[in-house]
Amino acid sequence: MKPSKRIKNITSGGSDGWEIFYKARKMMASGIDVIELSIGEHDIRTDPAIINAMHESALNGHTGYALVPGIAELRALIANRTEEKTGVKTSIDNVIVTPGGQSALFAAHMAVLDEGETAAYIDPFYATYPTTIRSVGALEKRIVTTAKNYFQPSFKQLDDATRKTKSLLINSPNNPTGVVYNEATIKNICDVAKKNDLWVISDEVYDTQIWTGKHISPREIENMAERTLVVGSLSKSHAMTGSRLGWLIGPEVIISKAIDLATNMTYGVPGFIQRAGIFALEQGKEFEEKISRPFNQRRKLALNILKDFPNLDHIPSQGAMYIMLDIRSTEMNGVSFAHELLDTEKIAVMPGESFGEAASGHVRIALTLEDKKFDETFRSVCKFASNLSVL
Ligand code: PLP
Repeated sequence: MKPSKRIKNITSGGSDGWEIFYKARKMMASGIDVIELSIGEHDIRTDPAIINAMHESALNGHTGYALVPGIAELRALIANRTEEKTGVKTSIDNVIVTPGGQSALFAAHMAVLDEGETAAYIDPFYATYPTTIRSVGALEKRIVTTAKNYFQPSFKQLDDATRKTKSLLINSPNNPTGVVYNEATIKNICDVAKKNDLWVISDEVYDTQIWTGKHISPREIENMAERTLVVGSLSKSHAMTGSRLGWLIGPEVIISKAIDLATNMTYGVPGFIQRAGIFALEQGKEFEEKISRPFNQRRKLALNILKDFPNLDHIPSQGAMYIMLDIRSTEMNGVSFAHELLDTEKIAVMPGESFGEAASGHVRIALTLEDKKFDETFRSVCKFASNLSVL
């Protein structure tokens, strides 16, 4: 007996770019003290007050089946938060609660693509983008950007790549680059979407982590709400990665179909997790800022350290919990650099090649250590790179 072609096709069976991560984990398990800056996981745990809300809710009986689209109160909070940010009327019928942003990414692609249709996404990309597209039986089209343009796609690149595609997946603030798409890029995306009749799937899970510039959602651009699906999550904004609580926002015609999908796959999100999500969102902007602030602080430390290393370049870290170091002056690619760094300094970072071809010659460093330790570690990475640099 064999698995289906479709499920076998999700991963190609080759390298998935995560070797460094697994190598670091293996070293740690064997007792080696490795400093881990390779994944987007906060250095704090979920706030005890949120855990308490979860606990209370479970004790109060919210342990049975929850409503598949999500508890109305939570959907309304998400709708209001979005309406406030975008100025676009958003009701609970535009929102489905999902087990994390990843599930919303899957639902969005499943809802708009027929088998064999093509879905575009921007390279560098978050690790699951190609595999999510393949999971729904669609074909992938990569739009490879350049470091020179700080990985923002141009109108021509977008237009050329999407003439025959059904959807375009974007992510700002961006993982892995830390770039926030500027007004011109968002305009290009929306213009191309209208020209080539595309669905825009906008992954906004880092929308509370903006250090410079402004986060613009395509949903807020004129006549875009009808063709935009927004992916959101409490993972990054509220340090709730393990709670698996996210959402998809879009036109009712898509959300109602995403509810059909959820009925047949996840059957919703546990009620006590959703109640904790209600509590978390009720804490408002101040709480979101408390969670995001340390990343900005460490980003500032990193930018300060980089001033001492004029032979190293970096991508301006405008948002999200990462900074991308350009290590091309070492004449190494990101993979060999990351292996050497791990072997010699016992520091794990992600090679740019894990996120596609555009970011090769770069490494992504997560801003996920407490300040003092981050400062020391980032300096060690820079020293290591600078010593290898041929400039
Ligand atoms: N989108 C991006 C760009 C991410 O970086 C992540 C997680 O790292 C996700 C989506 C998935 O997040 P969630 O934990 O909400 O599933």
